[in-house]
Amino acid sequence: MRAPKGFRQDARCDWGCGGGVQYPMPFCPWCGRDQDWPDDNTGSCPHCSRGVEDWWHVCPWCGFDPSGQDLIGAALARVRGLLKAAKIKDWGYRVLLRPGVSGVDPRSPKLVEIDRDYVVNAKRRTEIPWRMLVGLITHELGHSFLYYHWSLSRTDEFRRVFGEVHKAYRVQDETWVDFAKKRVSRVKSAYVTAYAATHPLEDFAEVFRIYVSRKAKMKELFTELGRVNKDLILYEKFILLHRFVRSLRGWR
Ligand SMILES: [Zn+2]
Ligand SMILES: [Zn+2]
Repeated sequence: MRAPKGFRQDARCDWGCGGGVQYPMPFCPWCGRDQDWPDDNTGSCPHCSRGVEDWWHVCPWCGFDPSGQDLIGAALARVRGLLKAAKIKDWGYRVLLRPGVSGVDPRSPKLVEIDRDYVVNAKRRTEIPWRMLVGLITHELGHSFLYYHWSLSRTDEFRRVFGEVHKAYRVQDETWVDFAKKRVSRVKSAYVTAYAATHPLEDFAEVFRIYVSRKAKMKELFTELGRVNKDLILYEKFILLHRFVRSLRGWR
């Protein structure tokens, strides 16, 4: 059987026939059996605010990209370029513009939600704080990366340098944090930025952000850490991440 004209796959057939189905088809075009579509969708389209699923590529209501990636194309391209330069293997993350706070739910580690107010409610497109957006996305990707590679957080080495990730969270709202700053801060000598000191998970996300924004150039990074008199433990955090990134590519 052939897919109908203009077909795009939004999901797989409920019955496991292997065929793709397009929202909201009542029947699978491949095996003909009934399809069940969820009534309440997990997300909302940043273009039309109607319900969409996180993995859809086209909004069935307005026809635009329901992830909102088209609204932050330049920032995303920059982040992808930095990840590539840092030689970090793609773990299948997906950035979504959604209402509410930015963050990653550990139950869906690949989905990175960015507060759409940063973009959609900016008065003019030129006013979008571009550097802030790049920094915020990279920081959130740090959370996604660790949740995806969760076993790393359970290693003795990780616990020694970053601490216990199950420690209670005090700070949740990251909106006040200035992720546009690319400098390593002078305060808190065991941490890369002041915000990193709030929780081991934030510590990792900030180390990840700085590591990626420096394109994994360890020599330059260490020179910078030396200039602001950072503790040895901070170097060890970067070394741990660097080794892990390389191990994912099969290097030693
Ligand atoms: Zn839409
Ligand atoms: Zn964070």
